[in-house]
Amino acid sequence: MSLHDTLAETEPTATAVASETSLIGQSREALGEALRSIGVADKQIRMRTAQLWNWIYVRGATDFDAMTSVSKDLRAALARRHTLRRPEIVDEQISSDGTRKWLFRFPSRGAGRPVEIETVYIPEADRGTLCLSSQVGCTLACTFCHTGTQKLVRNLTAEEIVAQILTARDRLDDYPGRWREGTAGTPEGGRLISNIVMMGMGEPLYNFDNVKQALAIAADGDGIGLSKRRITLSTSGVVPMIPRTGAEMGVMLAISLHAVRDDLRDELVPLNRKYPITDLLDACRAYPGLSNARRITFEYVMLKEVNDSLADARELVRLLKGIPAKINLIPFNPWPGTAYECSDWDQIERFAEVVNRAGYASPIRTPRGRDILAACGQLKSESERLHIRERMALEAMIAG
Ligand code: SAH
Ligand code: SF4
Repeated sequence: MSLHDTLAETEPTATAVASETSLIGQSREALGEALRSIGVADKQIRMRTAQLWNWIYVRGATDFDAMTSVSKDLRAALARRHTLRRPEIVDEQISSDGTRKWLFRFPSRGAGRPVEIETVYIPEADRGTLCLSSQVGCTLACTFCHTGTQKLVRNLTAEEIVAQILTARDRLDDYPGRWREGTAGTPEGGRLISNIVMMGMGEPLYNFDNVKQALAIAADGDGIGLSKRRITLSTSGVVPMIPRTGAEMGVMLAISLHAVRDDLRDELVPLNRKYPITDLLDACRAYPGLSNARRITFEYVMLKEVNDSLADARELVRLLKGIPAKINLIPFNPWPGTAYECSDWDQIERFAEVVNRAGYASPIRTPRGRDILAACGQLKSESERLHIRERMALEAMIAG
């Protein structure tokens, strides 16, 4: 392909071009538009879009220069207007159990300030889960959640959500061709990130469109290619958006239940005042695609002497009757200044036993990355941070 075939005569000069826009997180249609606007001929749009998609999502290209199957001229034209830049990695912590937590900084948008958000990677024997943030902070102010105490709140863009995946893949070197199939302890197919959960900062259903676009990209078979059964969206209970989540995103659903009585849930999850437990469970029963093979996960944070009695456990079982469900008991992860305590381990086990006896698998989520306060839902902690530069210096020292 020569420049003359594909680029319009009036290629804008550098000064006329607005600041670069990222191609990360854009739909195929938007990529096609970007190509068209730099003069790529209509008949080539589909093929060039597929090439870009492959370079961005399968190979993890971070700049256009790497795209050797694309002509030099087109690469240069793309680079003049666009970027594939990752967020700045302000901090990276690696726990003794292999959990990693990153603090990413995204540049300001319009008049806004740069924002920092956290992303966590949790490796387990049969899977590796990446926990993504959907917002900076959260407006919902659940009383046991640290994110709810943050003042600054804004929605993340689809670019910023997808960039969390790509940057984590960069750091883990987790791209096809580099997957270590068959290696002990590596999840499915040898890929390190095999699952995604929207359980970081923010309420994903208050940022529906951007989350939908980002998850569609994560599930796209020609790109990142994660099965929708390995993508879980957690909500505190934005009832009107639950049917659309099933119909339009088709991902697995997790509900932050945390209490079995409205008076207590009103306090712990204030959104309950708007959408009480019966409404929430009705929406769950009607969730599109629900079956024994596709159950809803109910999250239940264990708060000492608040919601952890055996009567609560029995009521939980009664409430969920008839809903194909998994129950995830989460030991409360304390944060500086919180009034809550985590239930005693014995009590968590007794609670789990009641739930198990009723026929529910109820894994107690093992606290991960405690040394770096990295559990999902416990992000942006005040823990000591090892600055990224120090870590890189350390890695360089170890490498020799
Ligand atoms: N806003 C969404 C998703 C983010 S929170 C939601 O609330 O579901 C992800 C999960 O972490 C939720 O179940 C949340 O209740 C839980 N969580 C928040 N703070 C926590 C803490 N300190 N300890 C344990 N779990 C917590
Ligand atoms: Fe927001 Fe979820 Fe935290 Fe509640 S638990 S404040 S909804 S992030």
